[in-house]
Amino acid sequence: MKVRFAPSPTGPFHIGGARSALFNYLLARKEQGTFLLRVEDTDQARSTRESEENIKAALKWLGMDWDEGVDVGGEAGPYRQTERLDIYEKVTQQLLESGHAYECYCSQEELDAVREEQLGRGETPKYNGHCHHLTEEQKAAYKAEGRKPTIRLRVPLHETVAFDDMVRGHVSFESNGIGDFVIVKSDGIPVYNYAVVVDDHTMGISHVIRAEEHLSNTPRQIVIYKALGWDVPTFGHISLIMGKDGKKMSKRHGATSVEQYRELGYLPEAIVNFLALLGWAPEGEEELFTKEELCQKFSMDRVAKNPAVFDIDKLNYINFNYMKQLTPEALYELCLPHLVKAGYASESPSAEEQAWLTMLCTCVKDHISYGAQIVDEVGMFFQDDILEDAEHAEEIATVKAEESYPTVIGAFKEKIEAMDEITPDAVKAAIKAIMKETGLKGKFVFMPIRIATTGQMHGPDLNYIITLFGKEKVLRRLG
Ligand code: GLU
Repeated sequence: MKVRFAPSPTGPFHIGGARSALFNYLLARKEQGTFLLRVEDTDQARSTRESEENIKAALKWLGMDWDEGVDVGGEAGPYRQTERLDIYEKVTQQLLESGHAYECYCSQEELDAVREEQLGRGETPKYNGHCHHLTEEQKAAYKAEGRKPTIRLRVPLHETVAFDDMVRGHVSFESNGIGDFVIVKSDGIPVYNYAVVVDDHTMGISHVIRAEEHLSNTPRQIVIYKALGWDVPTFGHISLIMGKDGKKMSKRHGATSVEQYRELGYLPEAIVNFLALLGWAPEGEEELFTKEELCQKFSMDRVAKNPAVFDIDKLNYINFNYMKQLTPEALYELCLPHLVKAGYASESPSAEEQAWLTMLCTCVKDHISYGAQIVDEVGMFFQDDILEDAEHAEEIATVKAEESYPTVIGAFKEKIEAMDEITPDAVKAAIKAIMKETGLKGKFVFMPIRIATTGQMHGPDLNYIITLFGKEKVLRRLG
């Protein structure tokens, strides 16, 4: 099995592209096949090297290493389409000689006029065959006018083009609807449908797994394979990705590129796990899988035909679970850029600040699903004033009105004052001691201290909060 991911480097690396890459990658690993990366840059106006670099960086970040292709090389290179023009040219010659393709000298204006006429008659526009059988003299005359030909494929009439799609089952199209289409533009650049066939064949691709939007291109590609007498690979068209509202995933639904998720502080393991579930369903209820597990479990027969729904809550749930497994240092690394951006951390923190920030991240980690969310959770560590939780004002007032409230606060203050160094363990021991001394149950000790120091009924671990505040701030807040 040899599969490929063949992105056009024309913009941000969309999450849908990453999903196509992943399905190919997982299948290659599962079947011990080859995963190839080819860059389809024939749209020279829109392709950029920057976009290619972004895609490669994102694939690497997600852990999808390719066995053959751009940068790593291989026997069937080069792997960038604009570097393969001589290869296409040879195949084009072959098609021209065998009569499966022909030169077309029609100008854009002439083609447009024909199109208008056909539309006017209520027909589906297709090439009218004007240059189907030009003589050498006619061609020479056009050339003398300065016309440069395109190359069209001669599409057989009255044939059914059919294939068995790994996802969609049996698919068939009538060849009459296709019309002779351009395979090489007048500037000598092949069109996507043509280059993709030459590449997939010469690179030995056995299975073509790609987005559903290419389904309608497949009959054209099959016609080219047949004209060349080449074996047609097995196709698998994976469904569209939609937002929860049932509309095609777009910017309106939030972040759409891998880069954006990376910047928001999502983990590559979580993105991979989430993308795998966009259209593929494992057996059983389990949803958390490492890449290695996915490589073992993935199979095309569990890829669904109906559109996949991009559920950000699910991604957050998955990411939350992977974040839980991070070491405190890794969690800090993930959150630091967001703390810096919010003005909560220095660009290059001292060892002391680093230790404090690491504890801060650990302290709030159960409350955040991705790196950027930390900013919403740590405000109180950077404010001088206590912001009272207005939503729970009544409950807060009740706690403050308890008879034991001043006793607890007084006792806690004394213990803090007596501490040389505040640590979560020391705070824990102090609270325990107060419980013992006063005979009060846990809640009647925790709550007054939490409310007096944070103004909140709920929040992260109190022992950590007190430690992070430090002696001075805690004493100030206790009044
Ligand atoms: N370059 C095409 C795209 O990015 C790839 C299509 C294919 O996989 O055949 O959509």
